[in-house]
Amino acid sequence: MKTVSDFFGSMVFDDRIMKATLSAKVYGSLKHTIDEGAPLDPSVADAVASAMKDWAVSKGATHFTHWFQPLTGITAEKHDGFISPSPDGGVIMEFSGKELIKGEPDASSFPSGGLRATFEARGYTAWDPTSYAFIKGKTLCIPTAFCSYGGHALDKKTPLLRSMEALNRQALRVLRLFGNDSVKRVVSSVGPEQEYFLITKEMYDARPDLRYCGRTLFGSRPPKGQEMDDHYFGAIKPRVAGFMEELNEELWKLGIMAKTEHNEVAPAQHELAPIYTTTNVATDHNQLTMEMMQKVASRHGLVCLLHEKPFDGVNGSGKHNNWSISTNEGQNLLSPGDTPYENAQFLLFLCAVIKAVDDYQDLLRISVATAGNDHRLGANEAPPAVISMFLGDELNAVLEAIETDTPYQGAEKTQMKLGVDVLPKFNRDTTDRNRTSPFAFTGNKFEFRMLGSSNSIACANIMLNAAVAESLKVYADRLEGAEDFETALHEMIKKTIKDHRRIIFNGNGYDDAWIKEATEVRGLLNYRTTADCMPHLLDQKNVDMLTSHQVFTLEELQSRCEIMLENYCKTVTIEANTMISMAGTQIAPAVEKFTADLAGNASAKKALVPSITCAYEMGVVRKLSGLTDQIIEKTADLQQAEASLTGAKDIIEESCMIRDTVIPRMQALRAVCDEAETLTAKSYWPFPTYADILFSVR
Ligand code: ADP
Ligand code: MG
Repeated sequence: MKTVSDFFGSMVFDDRIMKATLSAKVYGSLKHTIDEGAPLDPSVADAVASAMKDWAVSKGATHFTHWFQPLTGITAEKHDGFISPSPDGGVIMEFSGKELIKGEPDASSFPSGGLRATFEARGYTAWDPTSYAFIKGKTLCIPTAFCSYGGHALDKKTPLLRSMEALNRQALRVLRLFGNDSVKRVVSSVGPEQEYFLITKEMYDARPDLRYCGRTLFGSRPPKGQEMDDHYFGAIKPRVAGFMEELNEELWKLGIMAKTEHNEVAPAQHELAPIYTTTNVATDHNQLTMEMMQKVASRHGLVCLLHEKPFDGVNGSGKHNNWSISTNEGQNLLSPGDTPYENAQFLLFLCAVIKAVDDYQDLLRISVATAGNDHRLGANEAPPAVISMFLGDELNAVLEAIETDTPYQGAEKTQMKLGVDVLPKFNRDTTDRNRTSPFAFTGNKFEFRMLGSSNSIACANIMLNAAVAESLKVYADRLEGAEDFETALHEMIKKTIKDHRRIIFNGNGYDDAWIKEATEVRGLLNYRTTADCMPHLLDQKNVDMLTSHQVFTLEELQSRCEIMLENYCKTVTIEANTMISMAGTQIAPAVEKFTADLAGNASAKKALVPSITCAYEMGVVRKLSGLTDQIIEKTADLQQAEASLTGAKDIIEESCMIRDTVIPRMQALRAVCDEAETLTAKSYWPFPTYADILFSVR
């Protein structure tokens, strides 16, 4: 039998294959680029392309594609064959360095937020050698960045790579100050835990809302939901186990370290977590994981729902972004060390994150903002839209001791003098108790829990890397000029704790009282919707920070703001249209038919036995007739709200109209339809109910 190690990474042009197929000189040059971010030597491209092609062809590949991540949220690929005519009438397989390095897909159909119109007509893709090429189906996929000819990023990878570079630059400055001259590179790493729902294809096909919108727009609560907590970590059903087994195999072949899998809280909800890796690679891998989940599900007669809130009143799906920073020498900079110096360095990096999260709460909220995630944040076991940080009692006590110059009340009482004392060892288990925090320290990494299940993790990590780079820059600027390093360091850590204490919250993030305290007492931001937060992308402080670290240009930020708001408006508009259609062509007619049948039965019964009261029929007919009228009325209200969108002067105004009129009217329409569902005989209801869907996989 084949074991995992036999086929792990078999579809990846990874280090093992590079070493085996490239000359020592070419391999060395490429490795230098991959490990240290050195510019690529163009002369090696032909050799790499040729080796890649030979390897891919030996694995059955016939095509290649530049694989990229445009702002649509999914990945894009355009396949080109390797074949080229040979003089004798046959074909040879060709792939040049030029084709490897640069592609020119017709970019006109990808969202650009006006960038291409302003700058250049076409876009190009550029090879990202830091993420391995891989084979999907019969195609060699080359991870690439996607830019306009003016050099503006049209994708998510470009700013992500820039943000990693910014973090590297500033972190190295800080490490040098601590006397570390040997470190060459600092990178951020991520392990994203991915939640999803699995339902049967029959259920999916029977619901237009799931097919068009990825989530249900109607549906009353099932008699049994997640209240018994019997699904979380429960035994995995054979059909789901079959899916997971095949998914793991597909992911392992692609070199993706799928590691843990379990049932989640809601019925039909599951989770997959890989072993963490460099942010750039983790991002590519997460996109591939989502794609594979959907592909493998369909082979099992299932559909994988990646929407943040497929079912109202049931847990939504998120993605936990476990994030840390480490050196090329393997030191995790968010891990408390063994010596006083390492501890001081750890505390400085910790403070850099605290400052970053507080200063750029808005950017972090923006980075997870979509119409789908708006439904999830603050509802059923998801973090609220308010950002706060959980550090755990022990670390909190340490910070308090530093802030107030008092002895640390830990296991042994110690006065915390930075650079002198050794920090107490934190018990990892005690740091991870709080599951309600949007941003939690979990021993040697931070877990950002606000990401929606369908979000690309690029966006959150771009903002996180950039914001932390900014904190480190402020620190390095100050420390490089300090007369006495240790005193300056101590003062700066103290100041950070004092200035940013408001962002630290160790209590229950799901509690309403917290939202009140957070917003009214602490002055933290609470942007409930995408329409609320997105325009703040262009606030001066955000533009200044992101442009100064060369993560985005102003034009790129403007275009992204526009695209994200457009996505929001389009998503909700499609949902509204789907509701109007389902209410008008399915729900109202079904309710009407049932009502008419009941009325007919009642009059038939009365004709037979005049003394019969027909209380059931009369009562239901009366209620459902009223509800049918309301369904029609609320549908008209929604149509009217939609029609008025054409009057919006710009996308910001349109998104506000969506938030203020369209969404509330969708909710009003849903409420009457859901009530009608509870009164209508099941055999008349035009599509599967929540109970049918959530318990469909056996
Ligand atoms: P859980 O959050 O379910 O308790 P873990 O904390 O063990 O599970 O891991 C969750 C994810 O965090 C995994 O993807 C894991 O690889 C990742 N992870 C673990 N250590 C780090 C680290 N130092 N940096 C980034 N991610 C990490
Ligand atoms: Mg976790």
